[in-house]
Amino acid sequence: MSNHLFDALFAQGVDETRPFITVSDGKGGDARTLSFSDIRRMSLRMARALARMGARPGDRICVQVRKSPEALALYLACLAGGYVFQPLNMAYTAEEVRYFVRDAKPRILIVDPERKEALTDLAEETGAKLLTLRGDWRGSFFMLQMVQPENFEPVACDAQAPAAMLYTSGTTGRPKGAVLSHGNLLSNARDLVSVWDFTENDVLIHALPIHHAHGLFVAINVPLLSGARLIWHERFDANAIVADLPRASVLMGVPTFYARLLKTPAHRLRRAAANMRLFISGSAPLSPALHAAFEEATGHAIVERYGMTETGMIASLPLNGARKPGSVGFALPSVSLRIVDRETGEPLPQGETGMVEVKGPNVFSGYWQQPEKTDEAFREDGWFITGDLGRIDDQGYLHLVGRAKDLIITGGLNVYPAEVEAVLDSLPGVAEAAVVGIPDAEWGEKVCAIVAPDGSRRLDEKGLIAALKERLAGYKVPKRVVFVDALPRNAMGKVMKDSLRDMLLS
Ligand code: AMP
Repeated sequence: MSNHLFDALFAQGVDETRPFITVSDGKGGDARTLSFSDIRRMSLRMARALARMGARPGDRICVQVRKSPEALALYLACLAGGYVFQPLNMAYTAEEVRYFVRDAKPRILIVDPERKEALTDLAEETGAKLLTLRGDWRGSFFMLQMVQPENFEPVACDAQAPAAMLYTSGTTGRPKGAVLSHGNLLSNARDLVSVWDFTENDVLIHALPIHHAHGLFVAINVPLLSGARLIWHERFDANAIVADLPRASVLMGVPTFYARLLKTPAHRLRRAAANMRLFISGSAPLSPALHAAFEEATGHAIVERYGMTETGMIASLPLNGARKPGSVGFALPSVSLRIVDRETGEPLPQGETGMVEVKGPNVFSGYWQQPEKTDEAFREDGWFITGDLGRIDDQGYLHLVGRAKDLIITGGLNVYPAEVEAVLDSLPGVAEAAVVGIPDAEWGEKVCAIVAPDGSRRLDEKGLIAALKERLAGYKVPKRVVFVDALPRNAMGKVMKDSLRDMLLS
């Protein structure tokens, strides 16, 4: 038997000496280049190094390191060795890391050298071996892999074998580890290669973090599988990205990337983007206003896609066909999607808003050691309940209207924050806006808006409410508008609505 995912990722048939990763120097040039063969060989040495340290197939390898080609090779090493890659955001404090390590009980913990001291006692407590890795040829794990032979045979893994465990954003309750299998990841990557027409001629700008499904699976598995090349940015810097656009063909980003790119002088952005094939956005809603502004500035209509940790990617706007702003398009080829009544689970007629549910080879099998949470997440007949609310329009496009837990019920009527946010975003003077419900004696919940002005004009609460009344049914219009400099967002660009609710209640 072969190794389901690793073997497929390196079977693209391109010349192995071709560059796979070019680390950008931030000015449109190269700082460092690694070929497909360099990355494959490094990952095999790393897989052997992990085995030397006592890792066995199925063991978790917990990793909290900076983004680097070495960190990417470590992910591939886990696939090759049949280990479960457990990446953690570098932003987590040592205190937060404790939870994840105690929960996952990894055999090996690989951290940035700066983190080592703070985590030594945790490693002792849990019995995990502690090593370090940094992209600039530093760290004990880097040294260990350097001296390994490269003849490691990828361990036999079938489609069900666990490949990675990613903790979900955990906006409610404690974070849960979603276990993704080789088959989940491969089927999803194949779907995306096909709907986005990826080929070995593509050059993808990779500026996303790699502790999350977007940067790790979408932006790595898809180019690897198709033999495309990566231009690697450790973080998003609009100037550095614009400098690389002329030699790239695809950018994958979160909406914040696009909002920041738009701050570049219009003629420079337009010229830099002239030969791009595709701009993709996901992980958080792309407002129709931002979609329109980017198209006006560059001539490119962004392709929005929708997915989540537990399912990988679910839907995407089409390459050929209308790229409807505010919609996430159609289900991917292997994914089935339906809209049901949130309470009863009964499928709803087309056009009605309800819970989005999915089924397919992309859907994970469950949360790590939390069978009750896993049961709650699935219907009896196997549909996964995403927690997102949406509707399918008469042309079959999926429109998301928010998370079920963000739905506002005011005076018995449903208000979908995304609808009110889209109207607010389109008003002059508004850079971005979020809408939340807060408990209210009279209404049950009261609609409130938090607005970040763009500085182009003076905004006040009364004026905005009056403008909204002209465009929305009365019950949807916020009763209160609060101004902030910028909306609080997490690493993936998602607005942290819980913090906004807390702010309004305090
Ligand atoms: P995560 O598991 O961290 O990737 O978060 C998944 C959630 O992000 C989904 O359930 C959606 O609520 C949200 N999300 C992802 N992509 C989109 C999108 N294109 N538009 C709106 N929400 C999105």
